[in-house]
Amino acid sequence: MSGPNVYTDVATPKRTRDIIAKYGFSFKKSLGQNFLIDQNILRKIVSAAELDESKGALEIGPGIGALTQQLAQAAGRVTAVEIDDRLIPILRDVLADRPNVHIEHGDVLKLNLNQLIERQFAGLSGVSVVANLPYYVTTPILMKLLEEKLALEHIVVMIQKEVAQRMAAKPGGKDYGSLSVAVQYYCEPELVCIVPHTVFIPQPNVDSAVIKLTVRQKPPVEVADEAHYFRTVQACFAQRRKTIANNLTAFVGKAHRELLGPLLQSCGIDPSRRGETLSLAEFAALSRALLDAGLPDHEAGL
Ligand code: SAM
Repeated sequence: MSGPNVYTDVATPKRTRDIIAKYGFSFKKSLGQNFLIDQNILRKIVSAAELDESKGALEIGPGIGALTQQLAQAAGRVTAVEIDDRLIPILRDVLADRPNVHIEHGDVLKLNLNQLIERQFAGLSGVSVVANLPYYVTTPILMKLLEEKLALEHIVVMIQKEVAQRMAAKPGGKDYGSLSVAVQYYCEPELVCIVPHTVFIPQPNVDSAVIKLTVRQKPPVEVADEAHYFRTVQACFAQRRKTIANNLTAFVGKAHRELLGPLLQSCGIDPSRRGETLSLAEFAALSRALLDAGLPDHEAGL
């Protein structure tokens, strides 16, 4: 291994092991380090992101650069944020022949991503997040991307299979919950593929999935107060076996219990239903009705 060009396609078992040995790298489980060693899966991820020369790709957790290499070929510019300082020199080496890649050393949860996107992708026609995410922080990372309302087109990420299924779940099933509502409020989810744990070094204990989230220009439902909407959703799922009327009693306080039946009926919602059967639009109607009725909410204890 002498020049950077020999690193073309690091995502094979042999090349990944060679690089790890060359740099004496040891995996940190605490950082969710499972590196992809399958070119086919990489191709599926990159193609789902609909990149071209005019687009930017923001990668979170590049590892030793397996996905970064493919993104550099497909996109105009790539910025890859990596927390582990031991990986920075490896990435610089592996990606030495990719002038359109910028490596940012930092914790994605602490970075000002709006500023980073403005700085790195100015002049491009769109930016997407494309990543094989560290599983221990999947939800906080995705919620940060969504709640900060970053100017993104798509978010294409490899995550734990169960989390992907919850994000894409429709009302009525066991997978549908507050994460489904939050993700679907901001995005249109699409499950791209299920990925076996055998395509990583080291192998994680769980299977994974690639999910594509197409960021909506505007939410699919009109909401009077977003923070209240999400508190209402949380409240309805607080105890999944309980009816909405019972969960909402804890939310508005026992003193207002009697008001809940008629209020739910006025929204066309049977009080004996469970949270997992409510659509985004029904949650929006419910949140609006609670606000209009001036009912307090008791966030604590949910
Ligand atoms: N992209 C590589 C691949 O597909 O082979 C590596 C993916 S590995 C699942 C997750 C990567 O995220 C690791 O390189 C890890 O060091 C990095 N990471 C973990 N927590 C992070 C954080 N808070 N901010 C940025 N990177 C993080």
